[in-house]
Amino acid sequence: MNVPQSYRLVRRDARERRTVVRLKNGATFGGEEIAICAGPCAVESAEQLELTARAVAHAGANVLRGGAYKPRTSPYSFQGLGEEALKMLRHAADLYGLGVVTEVLDPRDVEKVAQYADMLQIGTRNMQNFSLLSEVGRMRMPVLLKRGLAATVQEWLLAAEYILLGGNESVVLCERGVRSFDVATRNLLDIAVVPLLEDLTHLPVIVDPSHAMGVARLVPPIAVASIAAGAHGLLIEVHPDPANALSDGAQSLDCDQFTRLMDVLVRAAELSGRRLPRNGRRPRPASESAIVSVIESRAVR
Ligand code: PEP
Ligand code: MN
Repeated sequence: MNVPQSYRLVRRDARERRTVVRLKNGATFGGEEIAICAGPCAVESAEQLELTARAVAHAGANVLRGGAYKPRTSPYSFQGLGEEALKMLRHAADLYGLGVVTEVLDPRDVEKVAQYADMLQIGTRNMQNFSLLSEVGRMRMPVLLKRGLAATVQEWLLAAEYILLGGNESVVLCERGVRSFDVATRNLLDIAVVPLLEDLTHLPVIVDPSHAMGVARLVPPIAVASIAAGAHGLLIEVHPDPANALSDGAQSLDCDQFTRLMDVLVRAAELSGRRLPRNGRRPRPASESAIVSVIESRAVR
């Protein structure tokens, strides 16, 4: 890869060691433990969020996700509950020892979102919103930088460079699929970037199979594949009642499906020489054949 001069701080040889990003609750991205971020696409109510937080924590997730400010394609779609949702996220996460990752859409909201969240998510539509990148670069808290809808790896790394240049070194990259000619899945997951980025940057990389696939049934096998490819974490949409979700219901796992997936991911992590967080997890044995069945995507039908 021909690296431009400006691509200095994120490149692999800019640091002796790989970056490990740690949230206040102890969740780590980039170490031996794989971070599991799970929760609804959008925060809809306190009840919806607490049910989800409880279920994902008991299944072993260590970070609660949920949108308070939603980047919806249509201005008529549900836009999120704003600061009320931020309060609900903080409350539900604290009940179960979870960290909070949530998207910030507007540079003017960065300080406010930072009061409640442990990690600021920059969504795919904002990957090249340079004023937003500079604003989160001024913060001293972890940032989850999703790959742009049609961003090259180099554009993505240069977006991360903006954040590091502001002095914020706690950046995690998130592959969530890119636009392609083929609409058979919502986006085309570029799983090759997981090992590729391992060579190009010291920053950790996680995968979001939910937005990549767009269909819940395809999420478990791709989550397993992401761990096998070396991802340092997963971002998975979970909803207690996906059929009635206000956004992204089709790609959301229900709480039982997520719990079954986590049983399999424990084994996948072991096979790749790493481990899942313990958190509130109640251990249940999963056989090798459970891995096979999830790869064949029978597990959540
Ligand atoms: C999300 O995480 O809910 C989201 C909107 O993701 P993306 O920016 O990847 O579309
Ligand atoms: Mn979503």
